[in-house]
Amino acid sequence: MSAALHTLPVLRTKAELYAACEKVRREGKRVGFVPTMGALHEGHLSLVQRAKRSAEWVVASIFVNPTQFGPNEDFDRYPRDLDSDARKLARVGTDAVFVPSVEEMYPKDEATRVNVRGLSETLCGPFRPGHFEGVATIVTKLLSAVGPCTAVFGRKDYQQLAILRRLAADLCLPVEVVGAPIERDPDGLAMSSRNAYLSKEERDRSLALSRGLFSAADLFGEGERDVSRLLERVTSEVTKVTNDIDYISCADADTLRSIEGQTGDRALLALAVRIGTTRLIDNFVLGEDKRKKG
Ligand code: AMP
Repeated sequence: MSAALHTLPVLRTKAELYAACEKVRREGKRVGFVPTMGALHEGHLSLVQRAKRSAEWVVASIFVNPTQFGPNEDFDRYPRDLDSDARKLARVGTDAVFVPSVEEMYPKDEATRVNVRGLSETLCGPFRPGHFEGVATIVTKLLSAVGPCTAVFGRKDYQQLAILRRLAADLCLPVEVVGAPIERDPDGLAMSSRNAYLSKEERDRSLALSRGLFSAADLFGEGERDVSRLLERVTSEVTKVTNDIDYISCADADTLRSIEGQTGDRALLALAVRIGTTRLIDNFVLGEDKRKKG
């Protein structure tokens, strides 16, 4: 084991995780939990910092969850670098990291899946069959293994956050679900582990996503409420750099149902596109998120 890992306790089993969390709770402290798939960036670390505001002891998990990847997706090539991740987690004061094996989370003969209806069926749902079922299943397992806690998720995956809020409420999990803002590079690109796949030229093209969302946010700020005009702002930027578009949608920020006609004073703009072979998502909640000045 490398030196960096020694600075951060690495828990490998659910039993070790639960015991560590129970010890903390018995001392009267709150547990914070930040689930990730690793290849950590400042977006992930901002979740740890947010967790530390609500909890005295924070554990992150790193697990590339096979059940949330489709057969033609990037499970095998998803970036994995535990040593570097552990160093980053230690730097922001994470107290422990949970790094289970696939067998630990999906033991032989496992047969249970968790489905959140409705919220899983819009936006990314139709384009990634089974994805949200995989997410809901692994997060249910992880939250069960952690026990009572404050769990922090990024608004970068806005639909995922909405699904997990619903899941925690519906399954009576003793968990406070907190959503944290999207961390962006200074030029506006939403941070993502998958940005590592982009060439320099593709990364430049990717800036059209946030540019389009921010431009629509400006229009909304000027009073525009017509969905087709708002979407046109985003689409005109995005189509300059790619025609490989899963969706560019305006949806109710709570139900995620598509809005026709006029928005109210709060609405979600969300998109998923491919730049080259890399699928990128981004979103902006009109009337709620702050426009980032470049
Ligand atoms: P992932 O490792 O991609 O599964 O993401 C783990 C957590 O980090 C999820 O809750 C994501 O929403 C969150 N996350 C990823 N990128 C960002 C970002 N740029 N800003 C804030 N949170 C993020």
